[in-house]
Amino acid sequence: MNCPWCEFEGRPRELHAHLGETHPEQVVFEERIGRTFYGITCPCCDDGYRHEIKPRGRDAGFVEEFNAQIRLVAFDMLVNHLLVEHDPEAASVAEPEDAEVGAPAPQATGGPAWLMEARRKAAEDGDAGPQT
Ligand SMILES: [Zn+2]
Ligand SMILES: [Zn+2]
Repeated sequence: MNCPWCEFEGRPRELHAHLGETHPEQVVFEERIGRTFYGITCPCCDDGYRHEIKPRGRDAGFVEEFNAQIRLVAFDMLVNHLLVEHDPEAASVAEPEDAEVGAPAPQATGGPAWLMEARRKAAEDGDAGPQT
């Protein structure tokens, strides 16, 4: 995927991190009569998202940190939008988010399947006898 604001190129997850680090100002905050909104506009098609932020605290430090999280949410929406609306090819090859954090493949944990199975059996026999 390409960053819509600069030359950066990377996978969706990398682009998301890049957006948060390099283009945080693209997420705009608006206050109207005691209500706060955040929004982001797609630079490719001018499609905009705008959502109300539910008030959760008045402590300045808290709001500051909260805003950082809001930005990540907004960039998340933008990355999805870019994938779906402007990069259908990348969307079809993008890895599912959960795949990377799932359990490692058996080969990665120390040997062929038959050896893993043998080790597992040995560990079970040693750990807890049949009497328990
Ligand atoms: Zn960029
Ligand atoms: Zn767009």
